[in-house]
Order: sequence, then C-alpha cells, then structure tokens
Amino acid sequence: MNGLGRGTRTCVCYHLRYGSKQRDHVERHDSSESRMTFTEFMRRFPTNDACLEYLKERFYPAGTECPNPKCRKASKFHRIKGRSAYSCQYCGHHVYPTAGTIFHKSTTSLQLWFWAIYLMSSTRCGLAAKHLEREIGVSYKTAHRMFKQIRTLLDDGGSLSGRVEIDETYMGGTRKGSSGGRPGPNDSTKPPVLAMVERKGKVKALVVPNVRRATLLPEIQRYVDPSSIVYTDELKSYDLLGQHYSQHWRIPHSLGIFIQGHIYTTTAESFFALVKGGIWGTYRGVSTRYLQNYLDEYAWRWNHKYDRRSMFETILDQVEKDDPLDVL
Ligand SMILES: [Zn+2]
Repeated sequence: MNGLGRGTRTCVCYHLRYGSKQRDHVERHDSSESRMTFTEFMRRFPTNDACLEYLKERFYPAGTECPNPKCRKASKFHRIKGRSAYSCQYCGHHVYPTAGTIFHKSTTSLQLWFWAIYLMSSTRCGLAAKHLEREIGVSYKTAHRMFKQIRTLLDDGGSLSGRVEIDETYMGGTRKGSSGGRPGPNDSTKPPVLAMVERKGKVKALVVPNVRRATLLPEIQRYVDPSSIVYTDELKSYDLLGQHYSQHWRIPHSLGIFIQGHIYTTTAESFFALVKGGIWGTYRGVSTRYLQNYLDEYAWRWNHKYDRRSMFETILDQVEKDDPLDVL
C-alpha cells in the first residue's frame, strides 16, 4: 500500500480542504454576509461573567467617577465575588452594571439575553418567540418578554429623504380582483400599512387606521423630508403630495404599468413582500396589536442590512442605563 492506506488518504483530503490550522480556528469565509458568526459570538461572550464584564466596561470603565456622593473619585471598580456587582477601589461602594438596563431584575442569565439579541440580529426574516423559547430554553412567556424588551433597543431610523417610494397595502390578504383585496370598513383582520422607502436606503412602515388622505398625509409629512422626490401609485389619497414635496411622480398601475423609467414603487413592494412572507411564514399570523412591533423589527433589519458592523453590536450599543445612581 506504499504508505497511503485508507486512513492516510482521508487525512490528506481533510488537510487539503481545511488545512490543519484552520480546523481548530473557525473563521468566517470572506464571502459570508455574516458580520458576526456564532463562533465569534461565543469567543467574545463565552460566559455570563464575560457579558457582565462587557457591561461593566461600557458603564464603568477605569476612571469613572464613583457614584457615591461622599467619594466621587475617578475609580477602578473590582468585581465582587459571587455577585453581579463591582466595588469602588476607594470607598467600596457597589455598582451594578445591569441596573437600569433591560436586563435589570431579570432572572434570566445575562448570557441568554445576549444570545437572544444575537439570534434576533442574525436572522434575515424575523424570529418567533416560540423559536427563541426552544433555542435558549426559557418559557414562552419569558421569550416573549425578552423580545419585547430587545425591540425597545431598535432605533426608528429617523426621517427619510432623497427618492422616496410611498405605498400602502393590507396585511393578512393578497391583492385580488378590482377591489385590490381591500377589506370592508370594519374588517380589523386586514389592517392597512403605509410604507415609505428610500431607494437604496431606509424604510418606515406604519399600521394606519385607514388609507384616507387625512390619515396618510400627516404621517408622510412626519417621516419624509419636504426636499424629497416622492413616488406613489394613483391612489387619490396621494393627490396633494405634489404641493408638499419637490416632485411627485405616479405610476399608473391601473393601466398595467409598473415601471416607467425612474417611476416605480417596486422597492416599497419588495419591502411588503418581505414582511408578508416573514409574518405568515415565521410568525404564523400576527395580531393587529403586535403588528407595529413586527413592522418596526423588519424596518430596522432593512435599515441596517448594509452596515459594516454586526447588527448584534448595533443593538447591544443601544443598551442604556437609566439609573446612574445604581439604586437597586
Ligand atoms: Zn467610591
């Protein structure tokens, strides 16, 4: 067998594919869209303590003024063994990195919180609380509460400008026939949603009570800068937009035309397609009560999809402490 037995051959192939070093050192491939892989997450936050240490470094880096009014010295804070607290190097005053954050008073471990944020940030089309429950081993109630808290960390993207497409749809049904799948006046199972989408930019989506002009116009003005060029379909509610925006272009959907040069609303339509696909696939339907939360989550993910840093870090950066005195 001249030295190339079965085992040896397998070994050679393995080395060719991975190289002995890379096997032990799992790195993200250049072509991966991920900004933080699970391995990178685990390397950075391998334990509950590592997560606590991260928060301590955020809120009490060396040289932070001690919150004790009698001390007030630029201090270092040392970990108190067995507790989620650190103490001032001079007066021994205790500080709690989680106090006043979304992690405050939670019996769920900090690492599970960080993991939940990681999962929420790494999915493309939304994550159901049910999935989180299974993945990190908490009760459904806890998973739901964690989601609610984590969503409070998502920014709303601010105002929109440039070329902005504006479109409306009804959630919970596909557009069919001449009525456009529109529900009757009291059909709360098909809430209308308004989306405003910058081309190659951010999106804002809102659940609205109806699609009348008096409802839509103030919302559009609230989020879309007057300097913008706006694109809509022929819905009458958009009639006055030309008076408020630098240009208003309309695509005549009723003539079966969907793209006419630079006039189209397909970016907004692709946002709706994403949300509808996600909501009916991942969430198996969403009550109207929570629909705005889901829209915000989708919009946030859309707004950050081209970020250079990971969405995980962007969310984590939003963790704030509203209790500077650390009163527990
Ligand atoms: Zn002190």
